[in-house]
Amino acid sequence: MWVFMPIAFAGKLLSAFRLQLSYVWSSLVSLLLGLRAAFRLAGTESSRHQSRKAAAETRREEEKGMNQPPTPLSVNYHFTRQCNYKCGFCFHTAKTSFVLPLEDAKRGLLLLKEAGMEKINFSGGEPFLQDRGEYLGQLVKFCKEELHLPSVSIVSNGSLIRERWFRSYAEYLDILAISCDSFDEQVNVLIGRGQGKKNHVQNLQKLRTWCRDYRVAFKINSVINRFNVEEDMREQIKALNPVRWKVFQCLRIEGENAGEDALREAERFLISDEEFEGFLHRHKEVSCLVPESNQKMKDSYLILDEYMRFLNCRNGRKEPSKSILDVGVEEAVKFSGFDEKMFLKRGGKYVWSKADLQLDW
Ligand code: SF4
Repeated sequence: MWVFMPIAFAGKLLSAFRLQLSYVWSSLVSLLLGLRAAFRLAGTESSRHQSRKAAAETRREEEKGMNQPPTPLSVNYHFTRQCNYKCGFCFHTAKTSFVLPLEDAKRGLLLLKEAGMEKINFSGGEPFLQDRGEYLGQLVKFCKEELHLPSVSIVSNGSLIRERWFRSYAEYLDILAISCDSFDEQVNVLIGRGQGKKNHVQNLQKLRTWCRDYRVAFKINSVINRFNVEEDMREQIKALNPVRWKVFQCLRIEGENAGEDALREAERFLISDEEFEGFLHRHKEVSCLVPESNQKMKDSYLILDEYMRFLNCRNGRKEPSKSILDVGVEEAVKFSGFDEKMFLKRGGKYVWSKADLQLDW
């Protein structure tokens, strides 16, 4: 019996201890659960805080983006409004005969380069008209030789270009775009691109040859309108083999080719979106075709006029900013109406330097 006494006592002691232990254990479990919940709560709070911070950051960035003027990466400088043609739908008409002195134009181009310009396109009017192409040649040379712009291009109707111009300036030029709306001379006459005794189409062939001989990338621009919308240009375009064939839908611009104070009347040239689509469909096998509907053109170009003012087309007419020569690029470009997203969407940024085009001359 004396043997069993300590065992009984030890058993009682153990059961009392187990009771205490179970209290301690259950308190420990509830403590741990409480701690876990607290940590979770803190974690959720902190991740909520983080996402609130990120959202505020994005908002700030967006606001900054909205207030920040766009970079003038690719600029179209229409330095003259004068032209030797009379296209009925022209959307940059001869409202003035002003052309900036060469040194002022160079100063403006330098400002644009400092603001981020990589591509300049000289246009008009007819850019070869001023000083028989010498003014244009000097600007092209300046942009390549002094400003080292990756891309220097010209849009011209091609009628005034001489081979001696190529001899003097072709090395500074990346792309020459020639406007050609039809391979039927009668249609060209109807549009207003007639050259009297000269044939616009034959002239195009000659320019194509010079571009090959003097190593300038050759491009064609066509405006699709009431008079050429049914035409099939596949064979002629393939034979000319341009690096790009830009196909525009005829565009109405108040004050230029529409409205009371306009010098042209585009109304009878306009075509519907469906008609434009029909033209594109007929030419879908032409791989160099780059289509530009009215929608794509809208606000996706940075246009400088003869005073170096950006032209804002948001309201369907060209409203000028102040000149970059007076207020600087950053201030003027705020009023350009330019939509950088639309510019990228229409493929405004492409391989635009002849060094990168790797052409088989
Ligand atoms: S060639 Fe060009 S600038 Fe000259 S009238 Fe025709 S569209 Fe206008």
